[in-house]
Amino acid sequence: MSLNSDQRTIQTWVHDFAVSSMRPIAHEWDEREETPWPFIQEAASIGIYSFEFFANAYADPSGLTLMVALEELAWGDAGLCMSIMGSTLAVAGLLAAGTPEQQMEWIPACFGTPSDPQVAAFAVSEADAGSDVSSLRTRAVYDEASDEWVLNGTKAWITNGGIAAVHVVVATVDPTLGARGQASFVIPAGTPGLRMGAKFQKMGIRASHTAEVILDDCRIPGRFLLGGRDRLEERLARAREGARSSQQAAMATFELSRPAVGAQAIGIARAAFEFALDHAKERVQFGRPIIENQAVSFALTDMATTIDSARLLVWRAASMAAQQQPFERGEGSMAKLAASEAAVSVTRQALQILGGYGYTRECPVERWHRDSLIYTIFEGTSEIQRLIIARNLSGLKLR
Ligand SMILES: Cc1cc2nc3c(=O)[nH]c(=O)nc-3n(C[C@H](O)[C@H](O)[C@H](O)COP(=O)(O)OP(=O)(O)OC[C@H]3O[C@@H](n4cnc5c(N)ncnc54)[C@H](O)[C@@H]3O)c2cc1C
Repeated sequence: MSLNSDQRTIQTWVHDFAVSSMRPIAHEWDEREETPWPFIQEAASIGIYSFEFFANAYADPSGLTLMVALEELAWGDAGLCMSIMGSTLAVAGLLAAGTPEQQMEWIPACFGTPSDPQVAAFAVSEADAGSDVSSLRTRAVYDEASDEWVLNGTKAWITNGGIAAVHVVVATVDPTLGARGQASFVIPAGTPGLRMGAKFQKMGIRASHTAEVILDDCRIPGRFLLGGRDRLEERLARAREGARSSQQAAMATFELSRPAVGAQAIGIARAAFEFALDHAKERVQFGRPIIENQAVSFALTDMATTIDSARLLVWRAASMAAQQQPFERGEGSMAKLAASEAAVSVTRQALQILGGYGYTRECPVERWHRDSLIYTIFEGTSEIQRLIIARNLSGLKLR
């Protein structure tokens, strides 16, 4: 269960970056609620935000390197972390559905270059299709004459939506087939018919850009269909025959990304725990440090235990994914569920230990609690994770 020396080196490197380049600016970017391009530039120039870093971390056969790095970045600040790591959701979309050639073409483009960093977006959700991804309305129609796909629809709450160099968009090709009639497409920035809609103002992770993506007769070359036309036609034919198919595009992507989301949630929880522990040792009331009250020390004990157990679930899921072991008991969902709920409850308890100071915007715990709440919502709410786990455990098609 211990990290090897390479992993420990990366952990220290990313932690030092979080201390020196994230913590000092986190409050400012939360207040500004803008994309922190100078920070993205800095992360790219030192190599923490780069295709090479991601590729090396992803290639780690233990699966833990990326988890460790993400935990440290979110420990630094979840909004800043998401401003760079939001791109990895698009990368997961490319890994889940793209051919090796498409992955080689588009994954580096998601990051840009050290001197000209870019971000990427993965667009599934719509105003009327969040948890129920099978009801997407965004439509992709193939134009045989020009060998182009034409996309129409509006995506909601998309991280990096409209500012991304690469949008990976999930759309329905055959609405009669529900989720099995969907496919993923790459839409590069500047494609006519692709534009940003409203930008959302949020409760937390405010350094991360969230907006609508509008597709209005957006035409893309046939080769931008991930996986290619033959694979899609085969899949649709199987679905029409009623044969069991492998997972649909959006769900396959989320399976890959869930442990990574969990690792970020752990980073927030750990930040809050450490802050509360230090405060509890220093804050004196009734003539003694507040940690000398069992109500406080036991709360801290529970927080530490919750964090460590959630991290173990994240590491298990990441290790299984790296070794291509299927999540037969919903292990990816268990990791995301436990870690996101841990972040909410630990930051909430930390706030209580911080007292009045904790409730003010001078104190980072207030921000960490706001940030934590999105983790039980995006990439599948806690209820949806429970549904997936229940389906896996029971073998039933629970709805
Ligand atoms: C900051 C932010 C960033 C995001 N980034 C992205 C992104 O990059 N790409 C993207 O595609 N999407 C993104 N999303 C969208 C996000 O994934 C959805 O908001 C999420 O999946 C929930 O969907 P919904 O909001 O429609 O909620 P709903 O599906 O309407 O759910 C509302 C409530 O009902 C519950 N519920 C629904 N169905 C069931 C059920 N069957 N059983 C039990 N309970 C149920 C849910 O758990 C939830 O509590 C983002 C959202 C936010 C806020």
